[in-house]
Amino acid sequence: MAATLSRVVLASGNAGKLRELRALLEPTGIEVVAQGALGVGDAEEPHATFVENALAKARHASAATGLPAIADDSGVCVPALGGAPGVRSARFAADLDGAPRSDAANNARLVRELAPHADRSAYYYCALVLVRGADDPQPVIADGLWHGEIVASPRGEGGFGYDPHFLLPETGRTAAELDAATKNATSHRGLAMRELLSKLAHARLLPAGPVR
Ligand code: IMP
Repeated sequence: MAATLSRVVLASGNAGKLRELRALLEPTGIEVVAQGALGVGDAEEPHATFVENALAKARHASAATGLPAIADDSGVCVPALGGAPGVRSARFAADLDGAPRSDAANNARLVRELAPHADRSAYYYCALVLVRGADDPQPVIADGLWHGEIVASPRGEGGFGYDPHFLLPETGRTAAELDAATKNATSHRGLAMRELLSKLAHARLLPAGPVR
């Protein structure tokens, strides 16, 4: 493995994800820049697995910028719906009617389709991939999972996406009712990032500096 990472592009245009990933990476001292700030648009996400889509996004951003890239592919998986929305989470409603992507429409479809089911369990899943270059033979891969259940009535103003409907039964709160630091401390994305950082530290890719 080569030099430590000093600047990394975040391969996402999702404002909610960018906010969370930035906060999680801040303590490392790595400079993070969103791909949009460098004029890079969204990559295709044609794959059936989160990890393949994350790798495709990271490669796309790295190829376009010449920088190391971190990509997140994530979604909410509902066992009673056979794992849907899953990798299609961002496009769940659009897959039905071709309308532009919308959190409100995604949540409406989820609540509607889950209505007849007694099992309301769900989990968020996040795959994180770092590539040092577009042809990196050793992508660093981490993942995380966060269990909860889907509630029909939305609650809370924080987070993004499905968060107002994602209840953490042990707290009685939805993910949208958690403050940002609490969500990052327990979420699928927070877990995946801590695993990624631990792997990067082991590979001696993190800058020396503040305790992580
Ligand atoms: P991606 O950009 O294809 O990875 O889509 C991820 C989608 O999954 C988002 O647009 C959200 O709908 C959903 N999602 C992933 N993580 C979260 C989260 O932390 N809160 C709420 N929704 C999430």
